Amino acid sequence: MKYDVIVIGSGPGGYISAIRAAQLGSKVAIIEKYSTLGGTCLNVGCIPSKALLDSSHHYYDAVHHFEEHGISVEKPSFDFKKMVDRKANVVETTTGGIKYLMDKNNIDVYEGLGSFEDATHVKITKNDGTSEVIEGTNIIIATGSKPSTLPFISIDKERVITSTEALKLQEVPKHLIVIGGGVIGLELGSVYKRLGAEVTVIEFMPAITPTMDKDVSKELTKVLKKQGMKINTSHGVTSVERNGDEVIVKATNKKGEEITFTGDYCLVSVGRRPYTEGLALDKAGVKVTERGMVEVNDHLQTNVSNIYAIGDVVRGAMLAHKAEEEGVVVAEYLAGQKPHIDYNLIPGIVYTWPEVAAVGKTEDELKEAKVDYKVGKFSMRALGRSRASGDLDGFVKVLADKNTDEVLGVHMVGARVADLIMEAAVAMEYRASAEDLARICHGHPTYSEAVKEAAKAAWDGQPLNA
Ligand SMILES: Cc1cc2nc3c(=O)[nH]c(=O)nc-3n(C[C@H](O)[C@H](O)[C@H](O)COP(=O)(O)OP(=O)(O)OC[C@H]3O[C@@H](n4cnc5c(N)ncnc54)[C@H](O)[C@@H]3O)c2cc1C
Repeated sequence: MKYDVIVIGSGPGGYISAIRAAQLGSKVAIIEKYSTLGGTCLNVGCIPSKALLDSSHHYYDAVHHFEEHGISVEKPSFDFKKMVDRKANVVETTTGGIKYLMDKNNIDVYEGLGSFEDATHVKITKNDGTSEVIEGTNIIIATGSKPSTLPFISIDKERVITSTEALKLQEVPKHLIVIGGGVIGLELGSVYKRLGAEVTVIEFMPAITPTMDKDVSKELTKVLKKQGMKINTSHGVTSVERNGDEVIVKATNKKGEEITFTGDYCLVSVGRRPYTEGLALDKAGVKVTERGMVEVNDHLQTNVSNIYAIGDVVRGAMLAHKAEEEGVVVAEYLAGQKPHIDYNLIPGIVYTWPEVAAVGKTEDELKEAKVDYKVGKFSMRALGRSRASGDLDGFVKVLADKNTDEVLGVHMVGARVADLIMEAAVAMEYRASAEDLARICHGHPTYSEAVKEAAKAAWDGQPLNA
């Protein structure tokens, strides 16, 4: 079979690029080694983690917040199996939706491991060992990433686990030790904390979510600690050992002291690595970096002109929406269009509660770039909406250029800020000023009023409700 475009990998990067290429008139094939489509995001990432976050959030609210709203329920309890089954159903429905979209767009789906024969031919090896070769004028590598670990940690997938296993546990841990205070560790840590586990986070850097704005990390640390999560920053893990049902983690703190943590599960969430195993990139002559990422130029084109790569397997944030945008860009570029991504405007979100969301530059980045900036901050606590719901933690912080008033970065902690951040992204896409944002009429009472107020604080230093 001969195709205009072959996509290897069906995660958010791959399946979206396949759809866009088909919409633009190409004959498209997609290859996926697993039996379900959707990649990490739909199967063992974004979707199952959010399903468990939502279920555990409902339970946590019932235990901790219903009473303040005047609702009494006899001691709330949960059926963990049911929760996990629900998560599996959500995943099944969502991945089924991708199959539907492939059919709708006349995209041929091949199940099996894709590997290059040369720059235009891909072999598909199926589970039963049989194989076939298809030909593509253009090929898009969208093979994603896998959890990474530290050299001295052996992941046994039972007690020393990655996010993949953490989403499939059969029981709530008694004490979950989380190595790595990044997005994945904090989200999964939150799930089990809400369900009653003791959760200890060990982070090497001086702050959790270390790449986010410092104020955000501080607020999130405060709130998570209030919820009972134990957070140990500036701790370097030196060993992880399993002893029966126990896991013993040793770490060295800032003072050089050795601290020992003992739990029944240890989640290793120290990042993810690009995944190209089995692709036989050498047969096509595609170059990878020392860190194993497929090298691409601004058009996501590899050193082989008809082969492109997108998503977690290339440089940049390992996020589903970044992968999707890149998928669209490559498909449109191949169709002769002139697409563009502003990598500065890819939102970063943490689905703890309260949520965390950010777009654009942090204060540290502006300082480093020697940009003259001003800050406007507004506390969620001052909003009528927050008082009504009882979600008082957090703030919105707007960073704007001191000379032009252009919004350069927006950082938020609070209820529903995962959705709220898009207002900031749209404003920044259109290069709005803080004054523009402050002058837009915002619905009342909404959490979005914090954006307006923080923008006003950045623009003229005079928020109205503070
Ligand atoms: C627990 C967790 C939670 C997350 N939550 C979020 C979130 O809330 N929001 C967000 O934006 N991101 C989130 N992410 C990250 C997100 O899942 C990834 O950024 C995204 O899935 C990357 O998409 P991709 O298309 O590049 O690759 P992937 O989704 O990894 O898909 C790659 C696909 O390629 C297939 N493949 C690999 N090699 C071959 C081959 N040789 N032949 C055939 N098929 C192959 C794989 O089986 C896989 O299905 C989360 C990740 C994890 C682990």
